[in-house]
Amino acid sequence: MKLERKRLYISKKTGLKERIKIINSAAAEKYNTVIFSLDDDFFKNRNRNQKYIKLLKHYSFNIEAGGRDFPLFIPKWLYLFRRDIFRMEEGKRKMNHHFCTTNPQTISYIKERAAFLFSRSINEVTPTRIFHLLPDEGHENTWCSCPACRAFSPAEQNLITVNTAADALANLDPEAKILYLDLGTEAEAPGITPRKNMLAEKSTIFCVTS
Ligand SMILES: [Zn+2]
Repeated sequence: MKLERKRLYISKKTGLKERIKIINSAAAEKYNTVIFSLDDDFFKNRNRNQKYIKLLKHYSFNIEAGGRDFPLFIPKWLYLFRRDIFRMEEGKRKMNHHFCTTNPQTISYIKERAAFLFSRSINEVTPTRIFHLLPDEGHENTWCSCPACRAFSPAEQNLITVNTAADALANLDPEAKILYLDLGTEAEAPGITPRKNMLAEKSTIFCVTS
């Protein structure tokens, strides 16, 4: 990627009028890249005639996808049927924040959901395609403590999750990259290494959403 991307995240809660305002001022401030959640209407709505989308084209913004989108991988309604794929805390399964990463069933759900979410958005994402996958805000270190997961640190459980999604992405576009949060509070995680299509996220763009 020759051109440096200056990124702005637009939350899925941002209304249509607000989007127009944000995009105009982003262009004035020399941003060239906009990130939408994998669950944003931008990827779900097939109507490309909306004004803010035309505006993005007018300014030739790069489009990227993702953010704090882990909750999309394991839908909360599964809690009723598959409690064992959810995070354990002090012996109890919790519905909030991440999941039980060593359960093979969790991995297969993530793989399936990631493949769906990436394939739904991939044609709108600008090559070289960049996706972002970050843990829940303020809960970066809140991961599963079940007997099997206890052997893995938050950084490792985060890597297991992003690696799974990265495999799904590589099947769709081998050139695409995932930026992930390197929790990096400890020495190298032995045995679990980031996939080749992953890069550590350095920017703090997700703190300045509208
Ligand atoms: Zn677990």
